[in-house]
Amino acid sequence: MPTLRQLFLANNAQTTNFPLLLEFERAEGIYMYDKQGRAYVDLISGIGVSNLGHSNPYVVKAIKEQLDKYMHLMVYGEYVQTPQVRFAEKLVSLLPQNLQSVYFTNSGTEAAEGALKLAKRFTGRQQVVAFHNSYHGSTHGALSVMGNEEFKQAYRPLLPGVRFIHFNNMDDLEFINDETACVIIETVQGEAGVRVPDAGYMQALRKHCSDTGALLVMDEIQAAFGRTGRLFAFEHFNIVPDMLLLAKAMGGGMPAGAFITSNVIMSALKENPILGHITTFVGHPVCCAAGLAAIEVLLNEDLMAAIAEKEIIFRKCLVHPAIKEIRGIGLILAIEFESFELNKKIIDRCIANGVITDWFLHCSNAMRIAPPLIITPGEIKKACDVIMEAVEHCC
Ligand code: PMP
Repeated sequence: MPTLRQLFLANNAQTTNFPLLLEFERAEGIYMYDKQGRAYVDLISGIGVSNLGHSNPYVVKAIKEQLDKYMHLMVYGEYVQTPQVRFAEKLVSLLPQNLQSVYFTNSGTEAAEGALKLAKRFTGRQQVVAFHNSYHGSTHGALSVMGNEEFKQAYRPLLPGVRFIHFNNMDDLEFINDETACVIIETVQGEAGVRVPDAGYMQALRKHCSDTGALLVMDEIQAAFGRTGRLFAFEHFNIVPDMLLLAKAMGGGMPAGAFITSNVIMSALKENPILGHITTFVGHPVCCAAGLAAIEVLLNEDLMAAIAEKEIIFRKCLVHPAIKEIRGIGLILAIEFESFELNKKIIDRCIANGVITDWFLHCSNAMRIAPPLIITPGEIKKACDVIMEAVEHCC
């Protein structure tokens, strides 16, 4: 009899030659448990998804209740489905007035695809401005605006007319002009190793977009839903995007994403041609029920109130000459080491000792810290003890 691991390697598509190969039986709160019942701390939330921790009971209950009513009924956009309506209503109630029309997606990359199409369609322009070291997903359109040549080169030709500029660099704003359909930016760059822009820069970017008629698309797929200490990361900068991209934590552990904009902009998908963006599963009733429950938990339990304090605990506990820098905001942090080799050794030891972390796609010498927002100060200290032991051991 082949083991589960052997079957996984034989029949499940592999994306690297060195998968982690951890096997978990169940997950609850900040912990994932293997077959022997050993607990691992999930310090990365399955890459920004499990903001409420795993298997939040309120979310699980909402999923079960919806399962008993209905699952898929019809492709998106035709039937009035209560979970879709209630979830969109909730999101819109928490957003500025111009962000009132929600197009659900199944994933982050689909949110980016929809936004790029809509920006071209609405403005009648073809060019897109994106950022070096950005990440917006792995499908063709999203890949075209990814600021990392290594991941893109094998897939050319990609979308033409994409110009890359430097994040947080005022001089580069001049490349946004009246031929630019949109600027797509991560409000906080994630895979670049957590880069937080200056408020002045974001405000100048906002102004430049308004002046030129380019739509400002802000990707908060990794940074929204409380992770930075605010519900949405753009709230830190006192600006409002023309389009907002969400996913990851949005479904409370179920697949959900969205691009959100004004009714006027979104209307462009309705005509010339009709059905400007259509897809089968988006706004899945079970995912929407989960997402609505997740946002209720986030708000009712006031999980954002303690994020800044939790960030400080991480910063205080993680002090060592080998730690070059800690970047980030709230509970999206990057711990920078000298090299990938050292970072990898430390990460491997953390995992062996029951703390799961990893590195960033475009920044392999930094360790990712993005735990569920429910992590307690005591749990942070314990996780940091494991990291510090690994740093000591590996240096
Ligand atoms: N945008 C950002 C900022 C992301 O971090 C990611 C995923 N890491 C995506 C988009 C793509 O999301 P998905 O993997 O759900 O397609």
